[in-house]
Amino acid sequence: MVLVCNIFNITSNNKTFFYKDWFERSIKYVDQLYDYRIKDFYSFNDICYIYGIPSNNFLKYYTLIKSIPIHIKSEINTNNAPCTQTTFVENILGRKNKTNKIFYTLQIKNPTENSKTQNKWQVLFGVHELNWKHIFTMPYKATIESTLRNFQYKYIHRIIATNKYLFKCKLSNSNLCDFCSENIETIEHLFWECKHIQPIWNHLTSFLEQQQLNVKLSFLNVSFGIYSLKSKDCNNIVNFILIMMKLFIFNMKFKKQVPIFNCFIHSLKLKVQIEKEIALSNDTLQNFEQKWNRIKFS
Ligand SMILES: [Zn+2]
Repeated sequence: MVLVCNIFNITSNNKTFFYKDWFERSIKYVDQLYDYRIKDFYSFNDICYIYGIPSNNFLKYYTLIKSIPIHIKSEINTNNAPCTQTTFVENILGRKNKTNKIFYTLQIKNPTENSKTQNKWQVLFGVHELNWKHIFTMPYKATIESTLRNFQYKYIHRIIATNKYLFKCKLSNSNLCDFCSENIETIEHLFWECKHIQPIWNHLTSFLEQQQLNVKLSFLNVSFGIYSLKSKDCNNIVNFILIMMKLFIFNMKFKKQVPIFNCFIHSLKLKVQIEKEIALSNDTLQNFEQKWNRIKFS
């Protein structure tokens, strides 16, 4: 992801923006405010919902959005544009006008109007109706990191560049899996079925067991999360790890290297360390420890 522009470099009447509340909620870059699907900035309601910004911050939001120079907006567009699903919100609602509610809020309010992608998942899992409210809100509960949230969002919408897809677009020489070179690289194969990926999930199950987090992993919960553990913190930790693992697999695919479990644990350790630093500077160390203390890296 290309770093777009630091919010604190934008000025209005020669004054630099620094919103303490926003900074503490990790809003630092302009692209975090941008909705790539509609190629426009999130509405104020969306920002409140996604980042937990207080609802009396409208003037702050408005001043900031109005002060973002037009060239930065076009830079965001050209640097990082998952355009394929640009109009899907309209498609789902079956109406043309742009809506200012983001996708998962729509899903919560219109649970009966499933998209083609949602139906595809349901057929795949042989489930009549998946709990889309849980599925869409899970990444926002599990992590504050936009990279992980974005990845899970794309995963849910199957906007994942597998070789099956790339080959169809003539962007890859083969549709076979980069790890085993034996099967067609679909989402199902890449993240679950591949003979090089199954051991990784088995390792993860044992690792979680060591932390007293007993879960039976399946392609369904690996894809969409765990909701059955005794506390919300436990569910959130496991879901954080599940998103991170999928992103790890995906990154290794592009390196064409078979994922190694210990490398994953190493990057998880770093991530937790970063969360700790953020918690320290935000004075929320107690929350951090309550959440992460159960994870012991040996
Ligand atoms: Zn494979």
